[in-house]
Amino acid sequence: MTSQFDETSVVDAVRKDLYIDGAWRPAEGGRTFDVEDPSTGNVLCSVADASPKDGLAALDAAVAAQQSWAATPARERGEILRRSFEALMDRQDELGLLMTLEMGKPLAEAKGEIAYAAEFFRWFAEEAVRVDGGYAISADGNSRVLVMKQPVGPTLLITPWNFPMAMCTRKIGPAVAAGCTMVFKPAALTPLSALAVTEILAEAGLPPGVLNVVNTSSSGTVMEPLIRDGRARKLSFTGSTEVGRKLLEQCADKVLRTSMELGGNAPFIVFDDADLDQAVEGAMVAKMRNIGEACTAANRLYVQEGVADEFARRLAEKMSALVVGRGVDDGVTVGPLIDDRAVAKAEQVVEDAVAKGAKLVVGGKRGDGSGHFYQPTVLTDVPHDADARTTEIFGPVAPVVPFSSEDEVIKEANDTEFGLVSYLFTNDLNRALRVSERLETGMIGLNRGLVANAGAPFGGVKQSGLGREGGTVGIEEFLETKYVAIDGAKL
Ligand code: NAP
Repeated sequence: MTSQFDETSVVDAVRKDLYIDGAWRPAEGGRTFDVEDPSTGNVLCSVADASPKDGLAALDAAVAAQQSWAATPARERGEILRRSFEALMDRQDELGLLMTLEMGKPLAEAKGEIAYAAEFFRWFAEEAVRVDGGYAISADGNSRVLVMKQPVGPTLLITPWNFPMAMCTRKIGPAVAAGCTMVFKPAALTPLSALAVTEILAEAGLPPGVLNVVNTSSSGTVMEPLIRDGRARKLSFTGSTEVGRKLLEQCADKVLRTSMELGGNAPFIVFDDADLDQAVEGAMVAKMRNIGEACTAANRLYVQEGVADEFARRLAEKMSALVVGRGVDDGVTVGPLIDDRAVAKAEQVVEDAVAKGAKLVVGGKRGDGSGHFYQPTVLTDVPHDADARTTEIFGPVAPVVPFSSEDEVIKEANDTEFGLVSYLFTNDLNRALRVSERLETGMIGLNRGLVANAGAPFGGVKQSGLGREGGTVGIEEFLETKYVAIDGAKL
């Protein structure tokens, strides 16, 4: 798939400044940082590089706008999201190309992410008008219990580079719907999609100060003072568990509410009664979506002994048929990894597994040239002590591990500090439910390699995070519950 749009013009069309209090403005001292195309290593453009002072200006604007934004009718807030949904879909091709250029994923996947991202705006446009409360008579009949939901207040949003648009809308959507103002820091590697969606929201009528965007190359120095300031009442973060932990510590100081969407180490379990074609198709999606750079990526593929060899053979066949290259080029199905560190990690995981006795079936090499490419790779007979089973690979490497019994595989699957998603392939309904109940995980893909869905509660347990995004619970993360005790004596 090639784009009808021109690469230079889609990059040129994006505003490159900070967006604070409804105005686009350069960073303090005119500082900028470069954004690169990971498929070539070439600089695409420079964007404003916010300083701590710019960050504070953004927080001031969010705090000043909070009261009037909370008082804006829910329907109005919802309509802004609805118009933004339409605008994203109208510009899907152009924004897809922009995303491919800054992040690398193939054009078809980038366009798919624009649609997925837009869906959060449509979903939360509908949720904005459904916030309710409660009224009850107390058990002793002496009082009444009135419950109301209110916006938590100004919020801080931080997103990663791997889904440059969807991770933004998954936070901005519910914040807008709930009536919260925002200081938003997108990933330094991929700020362009975030800036494009900011412009769309502004054009859709988002009032000044509601969304303030601070791209920066110094995330820690800009965000820590805002977290410790105390005027923002919530941090919603998506990124690595390592950084999430650090931010939780900072939030403890002023007891900020937090939503934490962190790392994963998804087990992908195939029982011998599964439909093997369906399982292989599911593995291709769960492993190779987003070039393996997804928190939901299948990290360890456990396949029951009787079908493990056949599964690995079919998977290897499909993996070797993939076409690696620049995501903007026709026929390419696997783009570059985000940077050289990501390539080095894939290399290290494969070398470690092979040194410990795993078999390399396909792939196992980095690409030539200046882009950050790594071949789709299948490993079999991966031993228990291999890094591939314990670390989040975040690349196109599929370690296949045979197992014998249900108890054994559940123990293996749960033997990790992570608990974001698990995949389960079986045609036995009782087994599907039994295993689902025992897996320590926030989400399960049952005979399916994809769980992402704006209408479902996305999130993890254990060190994969706190809270949920999307679904009917998504807006709750941005709402406080207030209870009014009413004297019932004279009623
Ligand atoms: P990351 O290094 O943790 O960065 C995430 C975001 O945090 C970026 O915007 C980053 O800014 C910022 N950041 C880093 N250090 C910070 C600090 N000290 N203070 C404030 N902000 C800071 O993660 P990543 O490499 O971008 O993303 C990959 C990780 O995200 C993986 O572990 C993946 O599993 C996880 N993820 C989870 C989900 C989920 O829903 N559970 C979804 C997607 C990704 P810079 O860009 O400036 O570094």
